[in-house]
Amino acid sequence: MEAIKGIGVSAGIAIGRAFRLSEVDRRVLFRTVEPGEIAREIQRMESSLEESKQQIMRLRNKITLRGDADAARIFDFHLGLLADPTLIEPIRDDIQRERVIAEYAVAENFRKLADQLREIGTEIFAQKATDVIDLQRRVLTQLGGRATDRLADIKGPIVVIAHELTPSQTVELHRAHIVGFATDGGGLTGHTSILARALELPAVVGCTKVTTDVEDGDMVIVDGEGGVVIVRPDDALLARYQLLAREGQQRQHALRSVAGQPSITRDGMPITLLGNIEFPEEIEGILENGGTGVGLYRTEFLYLASDIAPTEESQLESYRRAIELAGGRALTIRTLDLGADKYTQGHLAEAERNPFLGLRSIRFCLANPEMFKTQLRALLRASAHGPIKIMLPLVTHVMELRQTKMILNDLGEELEEEGIPFDRNIPIGIMVETPAAALMARAFANEARFFSIGTNDLVQYTLAVDRGNERVAGLYNAANPAVLMLIKSIVRTARHVGIDVSVCGEIAGQPLFTPLLLGMGVRTLSMSPGQIPAVKRVVRGLEIEHCESLARRVGSFDSDRQVLACLRDELRRIDPEALAGSEGG
Ligand code: PEP
Ligand code: MG
Repeated sequence: MEAIKGIGVSAGIAIGRAFRLSEVDRRVLFRTVEPGEIAREIQRMESSLEESKQQIMRLRNKITLRGDADAARIFDFHLGLLADPTLIEPIRDDIQRERVIAEYAVAENFRKLADQLREIGTEIFAQKATDVIDLQRRVLTQLGGRATDRLADIKGPIVVIAHELTPSQTVELHRAHIVGFATDGGGLTGHTSILARALELPAVVGCTKVTTDVEDGDMVIVDGEGGVVIVRPDDALLARYQLLAREGQQRQHALRSVAGQPSITRDGMPITLLGNIEFPEEIEGILENGGTGVGLYRTEFLYLASDIAPTEESQLESYRRAIELAGGRALTIRTLDLGADKYTQGHLAEAERNPFLGLRSIRFCLANPEMFKTQLRALLRASAHGPIKIMLPLVTHVMELRQTKMILNDLGEELEEEGIPFDRNIPIGIMVETPAAALMARAFANEARFFSIGTNDLVQYTLAVDRGNERVAGLYNAANPAVLMLIKSIVRTARHVGIDVSVCGEIAGQPLFTPLLLGMGVRTLSMSPGQIPAVKRVVRGLEIEHCESLARRVGSFDSDRQVLACLRDELRRIDPEALAGSEGG
């Protein structure tokens, strides 16, 4: 038996057999084989190419049925490459003559071809280079063994163990028999952790050595609240955790009874509680939990959940579905927040050195206008079916907001000419999640219809701490006085100018922060749907005047320790049960 400490990022207890998900190492190492093993390497190489071909043909057939000719052409290019002797023969030669492993021969020859294409220097060939790298990844994944086959071999509930999980891998985990996961890397507000909460999968990240200490098939307990992974527990401990899991479910059930009650403080101040979603279907969960709309729809998951870029029509379909499910309630749709840990690195010919400070979010969209326009057109067209707001992520310069508005105007004119209806008065707002935007809130408030404070990124950029890096997870703290000072000033500016302001980062769903945020003047909070009842129960126990005096007191502290101690005392007084789930942040 062994207990591995990590960061509990999604509450609940998962008990099951371990399944180790090994990722393909992007940096394939140079290794040679004995002469007698050459035939086996060639055989591996050939089957990986054949399996990739079958996969692509299946994908292409799916796309052709949907009538998407552009996407089908991309797959034709992939198929052409797989049949091209000028690419495939050198791979075979390298294995035969240099005796290198199949992975290395594949990686090297695909890379050389991508370099040659990129050197031509035109946009079209740069795109082809990206396609080559994409195909390289597919073939390397085949060489790494098919995880799905091994997964099918394990019976009963499964706990996934991985070095790191990307957001798109996490989406794929959402299957009936996967009950939780644990990873070596990661932090509380990394996108993988956010998804775990959305999918209600208990998870512990930042365990450092879970992949070394756990074997496939081991019995594992993931305690998402305590932030611990127990490997090969003895019978007594297993029974204790089974009991805890049942009790947790009962507590969750009891909390649901708050869902139907009004979200209003003891002294009568209504507080709007909204949900953050990644998929339209989650809207049902918001309403069941007593939320009144969507404060943040992270649309980039349209890209993460599929192998191909979503078209205007397929995006329109998703937005229409969200509008239908929201039924006229608030629905704030955020434009693509791709980049950093989401999507782009694997699609770039060369990964960025510092992706969180790189071509991310609104920057990535403005640098890829065709992709951005596809989304904005879909959003405009969707607006004819019900009320939406459009929100731009990671805005740092006023120009980014102005440029986007200009694109929207042009697209609006285009739609008018085509006679396609849309709402001409869609509110356009920004996420305030960089210190630059926070400090320039006054200027932004003149041009944005609303603000939503993205504290996950605001903390990372204010404190210079990567939100997904377990090595600095101890420094990542939303209770840091510098962060709180920025939040306070954003709220004050928005209220002064008279535009709406909400908080949609993870602290919005942490009862520990509820009294403080209300005291700073926040009246709208947006969070994972499952967090709504706990926050509502705290709201119902608060008085605004008291919250304001708490905010003043907290404003005088100069360390996050003091802040946290004070917030804990406060929560203990109002709702002691909520305290257990509110640690961290
Ligand atoms: C944030 O940064 O606080 C936020 C809500 O956006 P995301 O977590 O998707 O980056
Ligand atoms: Mg963000």
